[in-house]
Formats: sequence, structure tokens, C-alpha cells
Amino acid sequence: MAEPVSIALLYPELLGTYGDGGNAIVLVQRLRWRAIPAEVVDVTAGEPIPRGCQLYLMGGGEDAPQTLAARELRSGSALADAVAGGAGVLAVCAGLQVLGTRFAGEDNLAHEGLGLLDCETHRDGSPRRVGEVVVTPDAALDLPELTGYENHGGVTTLGPTGRPLGKVTVGHGNDGGDASEGVVNGRVVGTYLHGPVLARNPALADHLLSSVLGPLEPIEEPEVDALRRERLQAARHPHLPHLNSGWPHLNSGWPHLNSGWPHFGTGWPRRMKGG
Ligand code: GLN
Repeated sequence: MAEPVSIALLYPELLGTYGDGGNAIVLVQRLRWRAIPAEVVDVTAGEPIPRGCQLYLMGGGEDAPQTLAARELRSGSALADAVAGGAGVLAVCAGLQVLGTRFAGEDNLAHEGLGLLDCETHRDGSPRRVGEVVVTPDAALDLPELTGYENHGGVTTLGPTGRPLGKVTVGHGNDGGDASEGVVNGRVVGTYLHGPVLARNPALADHLLSSVLGPLEPIEEPEVDALRRERLQAARHPHLPHLNSGWPHLNSGWPHLNSGWPHFGTGWPRRMKGG
């Protein structure tokens, strides 16, 4: 049997506040639906990062664990080496900030990031940006509208080589005043969207997969299309109660309702790093 496609989930114990570990589940499931074997490799802080994975995922988290995650990543070159070797990365919120050149930590001081994304993040003293987001993706990506929710204190500005993932039409995104959302440098994609973003936006999941594996068969998902239409409508009309009741975690930015879903961790092909 072919070697499974390996998807590394980096530091889920530090960057797991917003349920972004679900992105790994989505990627594995979309491969399995295409009869492509795949596995998730959890990498916890203190363990070496395996260099041979095809995709690396980082999620959102609080300021202090985010600073720890950055320190761990900077102690080696495995992630940069993997990217140089052709791997892809999806980094959400704290993950995006850590992969930039600098970010503001819990002490509000500037911390060095990995520099895999050309952006930097600071605090501007404004209230946290919390709520639903709708993004029109950069035309070059050829993706449909993206939906998700954001919850961040940091404000990200792009450097000359960082392309935005798209433009916000609802919500804040990077919020450096240019309506941009996310940062893309080659196969490294950063976004502020939680959801998990790949569950809400399967086209983005397939974009990441095909960026490292080549073209993939499309998957028909009428129920996902219907749910996406509903989420997009709800985000555009937050005051219409019939569009916004029943699933508070999708609309309120309450991360504790959206995290730690234990069923995401069971029954899936996972292996320990290097195993
Ligand atoms: N701690 C970071 C901030 O508040 C990232 C938050 C997140 O990952 N949602 O800006």
C-alpha cells in the first residue's frame, strides 16, 4: 500500500483553544473519500518536528502559549526545512502571527517569529476583533467566498512579499486598515478564520491538498453547499434571528464552545511523530 499522506498538527496542547485541530480531520477525511491513505501526526511541544510531512497545521491560542510555541519552533529549523522541501502550511490566527516576522506577546513586547510569512503583528489597544467573517479570496486563488469567525487582539500588516488571502466583506481580518485577510507566501497560508476554517470552506482544504499533491478529483457535497449558503447569509445578516439561532458557537466567537471536541480525536489514523 502507498505511504499515507502525513499531516502534522503542531502543538495542539498550546494552539488548540479554538478547535482548529478539526482542520487536520477535514484534510484526512477528504483524502480518504478519494481512497488516498492519510494520517495525522500530533507533535507536542518538546518533540522534534518530523520533516517528511506533506502539510503542517497550526491553530489559534492565547498569547502565552503562542509565545511558547514560537520559542519551540525557533529552536530548530524543521518547519522551514519542510517548507523549503515543498511542504505546505496552514496557520490560523496565533499560528499566522507566529509564522510572521514579529508578533506581540502576552507582555505586549515584540517577539521574533519564524519569518515564513511576510507580515508582522502588533497590538493597537483596540478591543479584540470578535465575530463572523466573510472573505472574498484573492482572484489568483480561484476559490469561492470564505467564511469563519475571528477572535484576536493582534493586528497584522503585510510586508512586500506577503499576499493577502483575500478581502473582508464582513468582519475585520488583519485589520491594518486595508480590509485584507490572511497572508500567503507560496505554500504557506495564514488566516484569522476559525470554524474550523477547512470544515466551513472545503475548497480551501482541497486547494491546500492539491498544492502539495497535485490535482484531485472533485467531491460533490450538496449538504455542505447548503450549509455554506446558510452561514454566509447569517454572517451578512447578523440581526435576523432565524438565521442566527441554534448554533451560537458559529456566531458569537465563544471559543470555549468550539474547542476540545473529543470526538475529533477518536478513531482517526494518527501516529506519534516518527512512528
Ligand atoms: N493571541 C492572539 C491574539 O489575541 C491570537 C488569538 C487567536 O489565535 N484566536 O491576537
